[in-house]
Amino acid sequence: MNQKNLEICKSLINPSYIEQSSQAINQYNHLINVLLTQRRLPDKGWDDQFIRWFLNDIAKMDSNNYVENAGVGEREGRIHSRIVQERHFGLAHGIGRSGDISEQQPKAAGSSLVQRLCSYLVMDSMSVAGLNSIGECLVLPMATGMTIALTLMTFTKHCRPPTAKYVIWPRIDQKSCLKAIATAGLVPVVIENVLQGDVITTDLEAIENKIIELGPENVVCVYSTTSCFAPRVPDRIIEISELCYKYNVGHIINNAYGLQCSKIVHAINESCQSDKQRRVDAIIQSTDKNYMVPVGGAIITSPKKEKQQHKQKEKGEEEQQVNLIDLISKNYPGRANGSPILDLFITLLSMGRQGYKELLDERKQLLTYFRDQLASLSLQFPNCRLLDTPDNRISLGLALAVASGDQQKLSISMIGSKLFSRSCSGARVIELPGSKKSVAGLDFESYGSHINNYHSSYLTVACAIGITKDDIDTFMKRLKKIL
Ligand SMILES: *Cc1c(COP(=O)(O)O)cnc(C)c1O
Repeated sequence: MNQKNLEICKSLINPSYIEQSSQAINQYNHLINVLLTQRRLPDKGWDDQFIRWFLNDIAKMDSNNYVENAGVGEREGRIHSRIVQERHFGLAHGIGRSGDISEQQPKAAGSSLVQRLCSYLVMDSMSVAGLNSIGECLVLPMATGMTIALTLMTFTKHCRPPTAKYVIWPRIDQKSCLKAIATAGLVPVVIENVLQGDVITTDLEAIENKIIELGPENVVCVYSTTSCFAPRVPDRIIEISELCYKYNVGHIINNAYGLQCSKIVHAINESCQSDKQRRVDAIIQSTDKNYMVPVGGAIITSPKKEKQQHKQKEKGEEEQQVNLIDLISKNYPGRANGSPILDLFITLLSMGRQGYKELLDERKQLLTYFRDQLASLSLQFPNCRLLDTPDNRISLGLALAVASGDQQKLSISMIGSKLFSRSCSGARVIELPGSKKSVAGLDFESYGSHINNYHSSYLTVACAIGITKDDIDTFMKRLKKIL
């Protein structure tokens, strides 16, 4: 209720009561004011009721909810089902305009506001996570693989010579990574990884040789991956970014769930330092894997452009550098669903700075705990050994030794299904030697293990944001029973 109406209420109800309640209303408005002016995560997360009020206020700003609206267009944000209406808080217009996904929608000031504020909150949350090298972000209602495909397409079309069609890709055995290249209509060039002890890591020399062999002008980018299952470790993105700078080819980083890991975030910050002759063009992360929302969104970020502005000031003729995020926004055909953005917006308001920090800290602590638990299990079961992959700070691997005979082998492959049938999800058992698999037209040996001829079968688990000690304890108990 606005001030004018509150004044009128004073003629109906004891004015001092109204005075009191208008103070409460002011407190609400004050928090909104802080959000609108500072555009940062609230220190302390908002409670659910408060968020609902705010969303209801915002929904009133969209034309489908105007009290006196008469819609005569083909897209008027009409919602048939009451359940759907409630699920979306009455926001029905999505985001963007036909020519640009970041543009404000005239019919939907409220939805546009959510989109704009959400970008600010995402930027702030990423700085809480330690990512301070990036200049801007775009949240899209498509999951990671599809968002990478759109990024690759846009980058190829606008930022590379017309001859460029190769994407140099250190192998990671997750189908969507490879399919993103195929969907973009580009040619993947697989770089097999190398083995160092237990660790599967990037073959930098092979990347460099491949760039030279293909010719930099024919290469779209190196497409690296930070977050992955052990015993693979994050790609050596700092060195890759140096190669990309040296040969003037693009560098796109798949950071699917890397935002929650300070070691990865630090490596990204380092890779974005163009004054140290390193190059990154875009970094893509999943919303669900980093922020605990339903699957369906991804965030594209690009490095800050400070250095280049410097240069522009020094030499006026410096060519105008393209803004990839801007190009991607414009390349997106049509409007898009706004709910993944709304989910993220609600979640960030609800977590607040403290809540998000706590989740990050907890995850870090639980990783040590999880590792210790698996290490002590290896002492109890001589056929198990914790793989030594300290550079992977999210996923852990437990080698499962095959003694002799088929029966033992059978039992290894069954560990995964037994875990699953005992309601343990997310653990993966890789049994080696694995089978061949064809993905996007390419054949891989031992698909799932990121390398040919790894020395043992193993089980992987991830210590990801939101995991609880109880998850770990229950899993360990069930695993012990199965072993
Ligand atoms: C999850 C994941 C993807 C695919 O993500 P979608 O959101 O399902 O498209 C791609 N790469 C990596 C490394 C992932 O972890």
